[in-house]
Amino acid sequence: MATAQPEHPSDELAQIRAAVRALCAGFPGEYWRKLDRERAYPREFVAALTKAGFLAALIPEEYGGSGLSLVEAAAIMEEIQACGCNGAACHAQMYTMGTLLRHGSAEQKSRWLPAIAAGELRLQAFGVTEPTSGSDTLNLRTTAVRAGDHYIINGQKIWTSRAEHSDLMLLLARTTPREEAKSRTSGLSVFVVDMNLAQGTTMNINPIRTMMNHASTEVFFADLRVPAENLIGTEGEGFRYILTGMNAERILIAAECIGDAKWFIAKAAAYAKEREVFGRPIGQNQGVQFPIARAYAQMRAAELMVREAASLYEAGRDCGAEANMAKLLAADASWAAAEMCVQTHGGFGFAEEFDIERKFRETRLYQVAPISTNLILAYLAEHVLGLPRSY
Ligand SMILES: Cc1cc2nc3c(=O)[nH]c(=O)nc-3n(C[C@H](O)[C@H](O)[C@H](O)COP(=O)(O)OP(=O)(O)OC[C@H]3O[C@@H](n4cnc5c(N)ncnc54)[C@H](O)[C@@H]3O)c2cc1C
Repeated sequence: MATAQPEHPSDELAQIRAAVRALCAGFPGEYWRKLDRERAYPREFVAALTKAGFLAALIPEEYGGSGLSLVEAAAIMEEIQACGCNGAACHAQMYTMGTLLRHGSAEQKSRWLPAIAAGELRLQAFGVTEPTSGSDTLNLRTTAVRAGDHYIINGQKIWTSRAEHSDLMLLLARTTPREEAKSRTSGLSVFVVDMNLAQGTTMNINPIRTMMNHASTEVFFADLRVPAENLIGTEGEGFRYILTGMNAERILIAAECIGDAKWFIAKAAAYAKEREVFGRPIGQNQGVQFPIARAYAQMRAAELMVREAASLYEAGRDCGAEANMAKLLAADASWAAAEMCVQTHGGFGFAEEFDIERKFRETRLYQVAPISTNLILAYLAEHVLGLPRSY
């Protein structure tokens, strides 16, 4: 399928895409369907991506990674989805690692990054959201109190995806009570939590069964002791550190949505050509072909914004608006394509063996996570258009 032009037209990028497609060919629909039925984690798929070095794409070469750019990382995630696979099982490793890379000390980076790049340690869990604060991150209640050479963590996270399949968690907790913090955004800190040490004693993980197979959980902390040396950067500055990583997260998730949209569009176009009703292919009817064409145009437009956001990010320029718009437009494009694909398939769109209903459920998530559509619109209204803050 044709795609937007202004991606690096390098051979290297084409090779990366081809290598991802070759890997994904080993994980066809039956593999994902079985996991979906059992709500099981795609261990083999994640192991294969790790072995091939794709999950270490953004880790610099000096730490054993591939040192690729966000443009290339986005291409990896897009291809995974366009092949019908699901990168949500492991995408966090790409962007959570950025907080450690940008704000961690030299000692922390050499302690964790080479092991993550080698696949010996998994940094897949990102503990930000809490049940009572939701989108209002600054209101989170999990506390980290300094006691000698440790911090004592108490509280609860929710929707901590992949917590059962990760060795480390990047955790955001309050170190200064809100009323004593020097500004609205200070007083939160980021920690790397060694989950293997804590699990079942001072940290408990409960899986949450959701409409798709997402390995999400809730995590409870009761006097969890985290060594002070696991604090990233300066105490109280954690919110800023997490925010700087969010643009990368949004761009990568947006790229996944573009991949999903491509999968739905290719699937629908193929079916519309082949399915005959009333003695002709259904795709000969404008009522069937126009929604496919519209979904394609919507995907291409969103793809341009994803490319623009990734290029700005790579150039070290401010890309907050573009990263948010890329996530918004790409999530809308994938959802529109999902809806179109079900409709094009009629009854078969609901049959498990076509994989459409599974992908439909999976791509719906991106209207809500990692940031909901409304919060993106609120960001654009306030920060780009200068409208009054609405919340
Ligand atoms: C499957 C799954 C996996 C996830 N994985 C992770 C993870 O790994 N780590 C993590 O930290 N979090 C994770 N999340 C959490 C996700 O980031 C949140 O669900 C999301 O940010 C929305 O927060 P909320 O669910 O609390 O919704 P709420 O904040 O309660 O919002 C509910 C609705 O109200 C709207 N709303 C709220 N406030 C406003 C406002 N001021 N103006 C307009 N509309 C508003 C929202 O847009 C939303 O539609 C995951 C969520 C899911 C479902």
